[in-house]
Amino acid sequence: MAGIDITGLAVEYPNGVRAVDGLDLRVADGELFALLGPSGCGKTTLLRAIAGLEPVAAGAVAIGSRELTGVPPGARGVAMVFQDYALFPHMTVAENIAYPLRVRRAPKARQRAEAERVAAGLSLSGLLDRRPGQLSGGQQQRTALARAIAVEADVLLLDEPLSNLDARLRLEARTFLKRWQRELALTTVFVTHDQAEALALADRIAVMEAGRVRQLGTPREVFQRPADTFVANFIGSTPMNLLDGTARDGGVECAGARLPGPPGLPAGTPVVVGVRPEYLEVAEDGLTGRVSTVENLGVTSLVTLECADGVLVGLTVPEQDEPAAGASLSVRAVPGRLLFYGAGDGRLL
Ligand code: ATP
Repeated sequence: MAGIDITGLAVEYPNGVRAVDGLDLRVADGELFALLGPSGCGKTTLLRAIAGLEPVAAGAVAIGSRELTGVPPGARGVAMVFQDYALFPHMTVAENIAYPLRVRRAPKARQRAEAERVAAGLSLSGLLDRRPGQLSGGQQQRTALARAIAVEADVLLLDEPLSNLDARLRLEARTFLKRWQRELALTTVFVTHDQAEALALADRIAVMEAGRVRQLGTPREVFQRPADTFVANFIGSTPMNLLDGTARDGGVECAGARLPGPPGLPAGTPVVVGVRPEYLEVAEDGLTGRVSTVENLGVTSLVTLECADGVLVGLTVPEQDEPAAGASLSVRAVPGRLLFYGAGDGRLL
């Protein structure tokens, strides 16, 4: 069993920056877990603290039932892929990948066979005899990933493992990583600032900001019910609509329309109405506005409506239903998809 238990963890840099600020987190055994958040929120620092590479100011990390305070990185049972890959420049790709096996004195033939197997899954087969200096950034990244996979550690820690790959390779590597992780049921924590990647890959996601976890949940939970407006803003390839509204007689007035609101709010309470562009549909009445722009997203188009008081509302429509710029359109939320947040604290009501 190799779940990760993080309790009250704080990491402070000598310059006084508290990069991880009293964080509690439990990653289940065999889980594929994403740390997601904007640049500087403390993702890498948290990963390094799990690996034992950052001294902790408070709290503890345990893997399985083993508390790791004072345990050096090499004895923690973790493999980590860094952002700068840290490949051995004098070794070939095959030797780099097989290095963990060589350290364990596995037979030469097995080293080569294992390197070939992992390399095939990451589209590196043609590059096994090259050295890192003869590889592109994305190829180096995949080599580093392959080497970490070959370690067969209890826990795999990946810092932006796919950031340097083009769209197609990224998809391929993503599928491979997920399949591999499933097969081995390898507890894996990966850092990303790419919400689409986190949603696609992870069993659960911790959305971080300023050294803390803002929301912890499955991709579906985080996408469909962001716990606050920060998460709502961060998740989704088209940004969620966050519109100012006012509670009135059991409903909410918003951009000149009356929406069904959360019960029990005193009249006049300011709220933020959240609704994803994907969860709005054209209707007879509702939020009404003029089409200001139409952007092609491939299968769908993102339509921006300018409603009363200049409020902008985005919705996606099937490409064939694209309205003309300037047309008047009313939209309504798919039932159950309107969210309401406190105007002050931004928390989900
Ligand atoms: P990114 O996505 O940009 O890699 P991140 O979420 O991984 O960001 P960290 O690298 O963990 O964030 O940094 C968290 C905070 O700690 C930032 O404010 C950063 O400036 C600061 N920080 C990181 N490393 C150091 C260091 N060695 N010394 C001082 N401050 C640091």
